[in-house]
Amino acid sequence: MRFRLAAASVAVVFLITGGAVLTATQQQPADTVPSAPPVPVVSDGSDETVTLPAMAPRGTSDAPRTRVSLTFDDGWASQMLALDALNEHGMPATFYISSGLIGLDRYLTRGQLDAIHDVGHEVGGHTVTHADLREMEPRAAKLELCSSRATLTRWGYEVTSFAYPFAGWTEEIREQVRECGYNSARDLGDLASREGCADCGAAESVPPPDPFLIRAPAQVSDQWTLEDLQKLVTDAEAVGGWVPITFHELCEQQGCSDIGVTVELFDAFLDWLQPRAGSNGTVVQTVDEVVGGDVQPLVDEASYALEPVSSASNGVRNPGFEQEDVDGDVECWTQGVHGDNDGRITFTEGRRSDVGVTVEIEEYSDGAANVVPDLDVGACAPAVEPGRRYELGAWYRSTAETGFSVYLRHEDGRWFPWAYGPPLPASEDWRRAEWTTPEIPPGFTGISFGLSLAQVGTLTVDDHSISVAAPGGGEGADSGA
Ligand SMILES: [Zn+2]
Repeated sequence: MRFRLAAASVAVVFLITGGAVLTATQQQPADTVPSAPPVPVVSDGSDETVTLPAMAPRGTSDAPRTRVSLTFDDGWASQMLALDALNEHGMPATFYISSGLIGLDRYLTRGQLDAIHDVGHEVGGHTVTHADLREMEPRAAKLELCSSRATLTRWGYEVTSFAYPFAGWTEEIREQVRECGYNSARDLGDLASREGCADCGAAESVPPPDPFLIRAPAQVSDQWTLEDLQKLVTDAEAVGGWVPITFHELCEQQGCSDIGVTVELFDAFLDWLQPRAGSNGTVVQTVDEVVGGDVQPLVDEASYALEPVSSASNGVRNPGFEQEDVDGDVECWTQGVHGDNDGRITFTEGRRSDVGVTVEIEEYSDGAANVVPDLDVGACAPAVEPGRRYELGAWYRSTAETGFSVYLRHEDGRWFPWAYGPPLPASEDWRRAEWTTPEIPPGFTGISFGLSLAQVGTLTVDDHSISVAAPGGGEGADSGA
């Protein structure tokens, strides 16, 4: 058995040192999410003003023979570098956004996304966390699909188009995309390009035979030349139809990313592409413009939301680490080792002669180590309700002081460090740790927690639990053997 590692963009440990539990604002690992106040305040970036030039008039043709869509995946911040060229050429693009990444380091902010949308570009969906939907349970996949569309809609966009992360789809996922109210879904690598698929066609049909499996060439990489891009268009023009071209990052200089193109190359491509509206009837349209159809209403959240934690049962999945997922990872648990220490996570004997997990630190300068339920959209992380308090529990043995670290997921999908429990003493024998959280603040719908080790020592944990606390129960800390 083994653990999956925490996503690099989210630090999953708090610092607990020398018996003093630091407040969240006192610790700020460099690679963590931007803020970690005791009560989270989500900076959504919407207060930020981003001014873009108005888009030039679009090239038009009554009956285009060939359509080109310029699509940008994931929401990379560097995509802002494409905007001047797009706007100056009057070419609307489609930005497929993973909603839970917006505002993280290297990704667009809400303000930037608003600016992109406000000058006429399309915002489409790309799941919450850029999930490989093929590897998820159906209910988790549907949550990724539907809740990201709900979030983007709440942010003010009309979301009709979707792109499969990792070009990963199944028949069931394709159906779920439709059920979540999208009008289309873009695949990759099933039209010919310099990356191969020589036997594939050069263009998708308009309308596409299956709008939930829109064919597209492989994504553009840093190996592509102007001629490679031009060939996509000229080959499509030879047969007529639609070629959606997929970009990721934009680079000031060659080589900033292996899925990046330089601004210079991108600009040169648009310079070449623009006059073809008149000479060849080749126009640039968003995916939504090509596919058409009304904006579907949001589906009822009850059709995909997960059951919140109740008072009747333990809300932690796989609370004692006994189950493995299909990859051989411990189902639903993530290890977090952060900072300057040699924290190691190993499997040892648990409380009932079953599986336990030991966190061991032999050399320590700073940081902490722990294991916590996956910081996901809800397949593993328990669902919670704002205004409620929750009783957290775990069994432990430890040679050093420990304490709960608690993380919350905003309804937009992002995770934040939130709260610490009080310090808990070292204990040679198995001891029950319990702590009742403060009220969950508004807008937060998921929780993850675990006992952390933040000094030299050995901490073994097992049998975690969470349930709704009775109203009016004792505030804050309590623990008992
Ligand atoms: Zn992607």
